[in-house]
Amino acid sequence: MVTGMLPSLMVRHHIGGNRWEGVDVHPYKEDGGTHFKSITRQTLFGGAHDLGVELRYFEIGEGGHSTLERHEHAHLVVINEGCGEVMVGDKISQVGLHDVVHVPPMTWHQFRATQGQPLGFLCVVSALRDRPQRPGDLDLASFSDEARAFVRT
Ligand code: MN
Repeated sequence: MVTGMLPSLMVRHHIGGNRWEGVDVHPYKEDGGTHFKSITRQTLFGGAHDLGVELRYFEIGEGGHSTLERHEHAHLVVINEGCGEVMVGDKISQVGLHDVVHVPPMTWHQFRATQGQPLGFLCVVSALRDRPQRPGDLDLASFSDEARAFVRT
């Protein structure tokens, strides 16, 4: 089982302000790319006890966005703070507190904090997973006009 550096705790206490005990705040992705903006990542559960998932918390600052990407693994997201918009496939939806978002395999997706607020969300993902793919020009050309106007690459 993949556990990374995160010690497995039965209870990981919330310490206020979208922070949890023993959990460091990391850059969203380590490659320092320009395909995302104003976003941090925390790993709350790293996979243990035959539960092969990670639970992460992402925080997108006002005006920021996650990477536009797709991959074979799926995501399950619960909005925990603020509101914003998400594209899943060709569908763009407003999302807010406690909304649940399912991203199926090989489906283009991007989260954006477009509503003058940050957007914070919990995300469940397989501990063992493929690398995200980013769209090429042909992929972008296949998007609907609405999706093409929405995405940030
Ligand atoms: Mn993803």
